[in-house]
Parts: sequence; structure tokens; C-alpha cells
Amino acid sequence: MKIIAVLYPDPVTGYPPAYARDSIPVIERYPNGQTLPSPQAIDFTPGELLGCVSGGLGLVSWLEGLGHTVVVTSDKEGPDSEFERELPDADVVISQPFWPAYLTAERLEKAKNLKLAITAGIGSDHVDLKTAIEKGMTVAEVTYSNSIAVAEHTVMQVLALVRDYIPQYKIVTEGGWNIADAVQRSYELEGMDVGVFGAGRIGRAVLERLAPFGVHLHYSDRFHLPDEVEKSLALTFHDDIHDLAKDIDVLTVHAPLTDETRGLIDDELLGTMRRGSYIVNPARGSIADRDAIVRALESGQLAGYAGDVWYPQPAPADHPWRTMPHHGMTPHTSGSSLPSQARYAAGTREILEDWFAEREIRPEYTIVKGGAYAGTGARSYAAKPAQS
Ligand code: NDP
Repeated sequence: MKIIAVLYPDPVTGYPPAYARDSIPVIERYPNGQTLPSPQAIDFTPGELLGCVSGGLGLVSWLEGLGHTVVVTSDKEGPDSEFERELPDADVVISQPFWPAYLTAERLEKAKNLKLAITAGIGSDHVDLKTAIEKGMTVAEVTYSNSIAVAEHTVMQVLALVRDYIPQYKIVTEGGWNIADAVQRSYELEGMDVGVFGAGRIGRAVLERLAPFGVHLHYSDRFHLPDEVEKSLALTFHDDIHDLAKDIDVLTVHAPLTDETRGLIDDELLGTMRRGSYIVNPARGSIADRDAIVRALESGQLAGYAGDVWYPQPAPADHPWRTMPHHGMTPHTSGSSLPSQARYAAGTREILEDWFAEREIRPEYTIVKGGAYAGTGARSYAAKPAQS
């Protein structure tokens, strides 16, 4: 088989010869009891940089040893890119949401042999799923592999915005000491109303992590969390994002990008929020209207915006979110920490082992299969089911 792995480029200083720490924590299970990726073997040391071209997700020698043709590239945009040139006879495409190999309808049309698209990570919206369904392809992702990493990044960015950390850090690195400059936009999270949009794996972990900060927690989702969770975290449920947004100081966004969520955070919604609200969106950039966010920061309607997801990715040098005021954006990194890479690389190997052996891929990893949404995809990406 021919397998293309589209991965982000190596560090500009070259592949790291050493790491900041000697090991990564051992996680036994995910919070909902789901088991960690369990391939038959791995050919990497957890904690290594795996998501870049030289890391090759730790798969290259194994795949080549099995006799497969492997192409690893970061060159993914436009008809002359290595990805597009190699695509027509590829059987499998692997990519990470941080450096997505956009599998548009046009590209899928050209990819006559393509049977399997694997997201090494979570979020397969870079694949035109409707076309993948029509083609009878399988789409799989490594569910839960980096959910807690994203929740941690979210909490970090909420605190960074509310306390106004980034300008204070800059004052230090630039040799300054003006305390008044440093604190004039610095608030406290305690006592604020914080709302989570999309209380799935990440959103729920954010709610749990923010509860000890003494905030009032709100959320909106297509379904209620279990009663005992609502009670123990003292959650207020809202029917939709419009009802949620007007009652909170901080909004965090954790729903997938679908036809229902694309462009939801627009001028109108932002206008209903309390003046000086904060938004942290590590879900997908296109859930927010790019220019509406800039306008709200410039007018002061928003006091801060952060997250790590953009459209397109990589973001062009002149993307306005790089220079808008009071932002705390990172490149798409929250789910690509070294421990997350170890988990999604192992999960990718598990998916491939199952695929080669013609075994069923775990339902929790399955997004599209046999001409329909399946497994996790049937819940996360299919249209909202009718309420009973
Ligand atoms: P989950 O599927 O566990 O959670 C998503 C939640 O959003 C579910 O509870 C789902 O509801 C809910 N939801 C879906 N559509 C709507 C809607 N229209 N309105 C309200 N709620 C909705 O996914 P994860 O928590 O693991 O990940 C969430 C998203 O985060 C991913 O789709 C991905 O885009 C992004 N992500 C980003 C990463 C990063 O590195 N920045 C890494 C990993 C993920 P229900 O299930 O009840 O239908």
C-alpha cells in the first residue's frame, strides 16, 4: 500500500537531540474509563517529538518493514505540493489537525485509491466527510488522545486573559517595571460566570478543572450532562449558545466544527455578551467569524480572545488574529504536547494494525465507515438527532 503522512515541519534548529524532561507521566486510563491506545508494539520512546516530518509518528520503519511505500511530507498546499502530487495513487492518508492535509471534495475525487484517512489527533473536519461517505471511505481519529491537554491549555489561556499575563511578562522581558501599566487590565477569575459551549470530553474536563476557582459554571450542549455531574459542579444549563453567551464573563468553546457550529460566534452573538467578556476557543477557528472577533476586541466589547485554532492552517503571516489587540493566541499546539503525541502516534499505529489485519477499528476511533457516519462520528458529526 501507499501511505502518505502529512506532518508539520521539523524544528527550525533541527530534530531535537535531547528533551527538557527524561520521561512523561504514565496515564492508566482516560477519565471516562476508555483504554489508552493499545497497538501490538511501538517503535518510539514516549516523550520524543513524533508529529514532525523526522518524527514520522514513529511509524515509518515499521510500515516500510511491512513492504509499504511511505511518503512523509509537510508540503501540503496547492496543486504542485508533494501531497497533491502523491495523492492520486495513495491508499491511506494520515495527518494531524495542527497541520491538516485538507482532503477537499476535489482532492478526494483525484484520490481514486484512497480508502482510509486517519486523523492523528481529534477533529476530522479537514476531511470533506460527506464526500468520504459517498466514496465509501473509512475515516478514523484517535479519540481522547489529547483531550485533557486541550483542557489544560484552555484553563491556562482563561487565566492568562483574565489576569492579563502576557503583557506583564513582556514588561519583564523588555526591562520595565511599571506596575500600573501591568495591572490596569488585570482581573480575577473568582466570582466570574464561566460558560462552556460543548461539554464533551474537553468541555467537561474544563468545567471540572475550573470548579475549584470559585466561579459560577454554565454550559450549553445538545444533551444534558448526567444529573450528578450538574449537581456536583453546580452547573447552569443553557439551551443554546445565544442563551449562554449573554449570562457569562468567559466563554470557552469545545464543540466540533459542523454545519451547525460554523460561524456561530458572529457580530450579533458578540453584541449580546457582557462588555469586556473573554473567549477562549481551542475547538476550530471557523466557529468564530474572524473579522467579528477583531472588531469586538477593537471596540472593547471583548476584553480578550485566545485559543489555538485558525483558518486556514498554517495561518498566513497577515492573519488579523496575529495582531489584534488583547489576544493570547498560540499556533495550533494545545493537543500536540509530547505526551499527546505519544498517545496519538500509538493510536494511529493501532488503527493501521487493525486495518491491515481487516479487524474492526474501535468504534470510539471511527468517524465514517461503510458509507455512513459510524462510532464516534455518528454522535459528533451527524446532524442533531430529533429530541425524544
Ligand atoms: P466531544 O465530541 O467529546 O465533545 C464535543 C461536544 O460538543 C459534545 O458534547 C457534543 O454534543 C457537543 N456538540 C456538538 N455539536 C454541538 C452543537 N451544535 N451545539 C452544542 N454542542 C454541540 O469532542 P472533544 O471534547 O474531544 O473535542 C471537541 C472539539 O475540540 C473537537 O471536535 C475538535 O474540533 C477540537 N479539538 C481541538 C484540539 C486542539 O488541539 N486544539 C484537539 C482535540 C480536539 P453531543 O456529543 O452530545 O452530540
